[in-house]
Amino acid sequence: MTGASDPLVLIVEDEPAQLEVLTYNLGSQGFRHAHAVDGEEALLMIDELQPDLIILDWMLPSLSGIEVCRRLKSRNDTKHIPIIILTARGEETDRVRGLETGADDYVVKPYSVKELIARVRAMLRRTRPAGVGETLEFGDIRLDPEQHKVMRGGRTIRLGPTEYRLLTTFMEKPGRVWSREQLIDRVWGHDSYVDLRTVDVHVGRLRKALNRNNAADPIRTVRGEGYSLDLEY
Ligand code: CA
Repeated sequence: MTGASDPLVLIVEDEPAQLEVLTYNLGSQGFRHAHAVDGEEALLMIDELQPDLIILDWMLPSLSGIEVCRRLKSRNDTKHIPIIILTARGEETDRVRGLETGADDYVVKPYSVKELIARVRAMLRRTRPAGVGETLEFGDIRLDPEQHKVMRGGRTIRLGPTEYRLLTTFMEKPGRVWSREQLIDRVWGHDSYVDLRTVDVHVGRLRKALNRNNAADPIRTVRGEGYSLDLEY
């Protein structure tokens, strides 16, 4: 059984037989998955779905895997998404080029599906937040989802429900830049009609609550893009 909080893996593969093997195995291992069959479609789906990980075939029609990878790794809102590249045996020069474009891992075809899934799991463990219910930490901020409690430097921080959900979103992916639209999707829900400026108001309230006693501001405003929780505050 899969649920909304299970990791979503996007498979980008143009060979139907390979795609079928991957979707079958990921599904049976409890991953949510989606697929695209060329590079252009992949980019559209990534914007829409915000997958937790991408398995990206090297040789694709329309836009190559390398180009998709390069574009994703140059964008603030997608560069955090881990990418595993599938490449044919012996393409060593491609391997090097792939690392330069920022791919996170490589699997050489023909590969063992079991091994690929093991790598997917390992990568998600590194990049995904702790399991549901585990305490999130960032600097001196701690968020305990079970007790619905936020502490900073040992002091309890009282937050409204919207500010609490905003902080949870930020703390799940520190360093990631969230656009206001993405925050609305995550915090208020896909179907809500929330003004973009409403996001600013709630981020402002969250800041005020977190930064009492002149504590350093952990929320970075990224001009023209949105907000992130930043390590270099
Ligand atoms: Ca291919």
